[in-house]
Amino acid sequence: MYFDQSIETLPQSQLRQLQSDRLKKLVKYVYERVPFYKNKWDEAGIHPDQIKGIEDLHRLPFTLKTDLRDTYPFGMFAVPMDQVSRIHCSSGTTGKPTVVGYTKNDLDLFAEVNARSLAAAGAKPGMMLHNAYGYGLFTGGLGLHAGAERLGMNVIPVSGGMTDRQLMILQDFGPEVICCTPSYAQRLTEEIRKRNIPVDSLNLKYAVLGAEPWTEVIRHEVEKGLNIQATNIYGLSEIIGPGVSQEAVEERGTGSHVWEDHFFPEIVNPDTGEVLPEGKDGVLVFTTLTKEAFPVIRYWTNDICSLYYDRDSQRTHIKMGQIKGRADDMLIIRGVNFFHTQVEALIEDIPHLAPHYQVIVSREGAMDQVEIKIELDPDYQKETLPAISAEDNLSNQENIRQLTNHLAKKIKDNIGITMKVEIKPGNSIPRSEGGKLSRVVDLRKGK
Ligand code: ADP
Repeated sequence: MYFDQSIETLPQSQLRQLQSDRLKKLVKYVYERVPFYKNKWDEAGIHPDQIKGIEDLHRLPFTLKTDLRDTYPFGMFAVPMDQVSRIHCSSGTTGKPTVVGYTKNDLDLFAEVNARSLAAAGAKPGMMLHNAYGYGLFTGGLGLHAGAERLGMNVIPVSGGMTDRQLMILQDFGPEVICCTPSYAQRLTEEIRKRNIPVDSLNLKYAVLGAEPWTEVIRHEVEKGLNIQATNIYGLSEIIGPGVSQEAVEERGTGSHVWEDHFFPEIVNPDTGEVLPEGKDGVLVFTTLTKEAFPVIRYWTNDICSLYYDRDSQRTHIKMGQIKGRADDMLIIRGVNFFHTQVEALIEDIPHLAPHYQVIVSREGAMDQVEIKIELDPDYQKETLPAISAEDNLSNQENIRQLTNHLAKKIKDNIGITMKVEIKPGNSIPRSEGGKLSRVVDLRKGK
């Protein structure tokens, strides 16, 4: 379902024209209002008059997270404080949080893009939304809340954590839609199974999951466990929060539409900053075309993915593939780069394993070591583990040994790194308490 069919299906030539018109206004706006941009562009010898359309965007310098930190807290705001209606912060996953502001119009836009996202995810006016994203400085809770209200839904502002209460609400209130992080959806799926809550006693139909990287493996787990259709929502506070892009429910697995009438995306080479063609992986960079309080030009998100048009989709907006990870979360082990999502993707066709895992990196002497701890699938574990602990059932121990070797070989063949694999019983690896879950433990840090 569309929230705004005319804009979501606007022919690309018209979208380009709209973006160009908006960009031309924007560059003048920020040049006049934000000293950071004026100084940086003057230094680079580029003037807003030289930006004649979206095709000139690549001539402008990038804006980096460090630039936001250097102007902390409000130095990048383009309006006086009395025109700012709200402040949010990034979650601070990678250091000191950055501070962002919204005018009334920006909040309106925030609601609109989240309404579009929810509609694309399957939600309809009149449905009830269980919003388990954190409310507060984090943009997730309030962003989706406003979007749901704009769409005409009934929102339960549950926020993150307090899993018992979440389960009670899911059973008693019967929401059709849930939004939360994918790791928390896993947690809820697991609790429902453990407590023998029949899935058909829940009324859930759709889940809108984001704020951290995830793969098809987790999608299958939560779709099956909750009997729902789960889609990806992406966003970051520096651009607006959630609702920068959204996967359409009928096109699951083929990428998320970036609402590019407001957020213009580019993919650039992480080393040279050169703009890369459709389909190539690189760093995602965004320019906000319509924001007032905190517009950003060519913001270097550090997220790695690709952009491409899906000519089979009714929506004309460009798609982004699933985020592989953040450039600064990329692990470099003995010269090979990898993201934890690559390990997650490899267990897709190993049904005996569950997508609860941790990647532990350590250093022994001069050598970096990686260990993967991963849990057995609970159904498989029931048959297998009691026998293992009895130590006398060699055939089951042999099964685990084979599974371990199988995964280690798959990792070596696909990622190119020898990793130690340890298969663990259920519930031995940390779960999400409601927010983002860190799946990598890097013991080398500070060494
Ligand atoms: P922080 O960067 O401090 O975590 P935010 O809460 O603004 O601050 O989170 C934005 C970041 O979360 C993105 O830059 C990206 O790394 C991650 N993220 C958000 N949505 C997704 C998603 N759907 N898939 C993968 N990563 C995501």
